[in-house]
Amino acid sequence: MNEILRNIVQILIDNQAFFEYFITSALIIHFDGKSFNAMVDRNNYKNLQINVLPAPSLVKKDNQIDFSRFESKYRKDIEEFYNVLIKNVDEDILISFYNNIRELVIEDNYTKFSKFRKKAKCLGTYSTDNTIEFFTEYEKSILFHELLHLSSSCVRDGKLYVGFNQMLENSDIGRGINEGYTEYLNQLYFKEPSNSKKYYTYLKNTAALLERVIGHEKMQSFFFKSDLLSLVEELSKYCGSEKARDFIKYTDYVYRYFHDKDHILQNDLIQHAFVNINHILIEAYYNKLKEDNINEHDFNMKLQEYLLLIPERFYSEHKTYYIECAIDMKEYVESLKSREKGHSL
Ligand SMILES: [Zn+2]
Repeated sequence: MNEILRNIVQILIDNQAFFEYFITSALIIHFDGKSFNAMVDRNNYKNLQINVLPAPSLVKKDNQIDFSRFESKYRKDIEEFYNVLIKNVDEDILISFYNNIRELVIEDNYTKFSKFRKKAKCLGTYSTDNTIEFFTEYEKSILFHELLHLSSSCVRDGKLYVGFNQMLENSDIGRGINEGYTEYLNQLYFKEPSNSKKYYTYLKNTAALLERVIGHEKMQSFFFKSDLLSLVEELSKYCGSEKARDFIKYTDYVYRYFHDKDHILQNDLIQHAFVNINHILIEAYYNKLKEDNINEHDFNMKLQEYLLLIPERFYSEHKTYYIECAIDMKEYVESLKSREKGHSL
């Protein structure tokens, strides 16, 4: 069995629910209340323009960490997080981590579970005043998820940058891809037990597929530098600027749809978002492979492997959310190929 085939089999084993992606509404977020309602206006959704700000400039204050100031209940786990992080990420890009960890406060608010959080099934939050709160029994994987938010966050001129998420007074963009990538890194670095597997499953898978286009080192670096603009520009190289911005818009819509406690968002638009996310990923990966200049056999194998990971159907824990995407991916790839032939003529 050649290596690509072996990879495909491994992927099949890793993704037991292969064609059906479970979308959970369990939340581990990095901000709450205020921005939660700064949602996309559904009537204006398809025409929404995404305005991405450049990354904030970051200056490291200090790289000393006093672990002794953390409550003993969390201390060992914070040290583990630190040790694994520096093994996986170049210290030069861990500026926000060092700046924020110095002031980290952890609050166990399990017993004070508020109505809002109960309804939204919020398990933990990270706020940019460097507070992590728990609204469920302590779970290491939730702490690590929130610490990844801490490691990629900063506040500049009243704007909040959290990984790929940018929060301004009247807009909140990149949240979908940010939560997906945060949880993807959480599982990539820490390989925590089954518990963590249930969070952000669809968005995590989408972020992993995007990473195959961008490349791990690059995407990881953009994340820790809160650099959504570079991510969008890199993706633009493979599918154009408009589609790259649309990708951010549609992944935000998916996030909001599944965490919309008022159910104001509609099914026809979520279908539109899913289909477009798939199309953009396939087109970008197709063009990336073209650029890699590999032989035709490897090209087809890699493309096939990628297509197998693109989700076609979705269901959530709420039975009402069963969604079937009407997308013929083979047909779409054929259309990309013929478009390309058209260009070369
Ligand atoms: Zn989160």
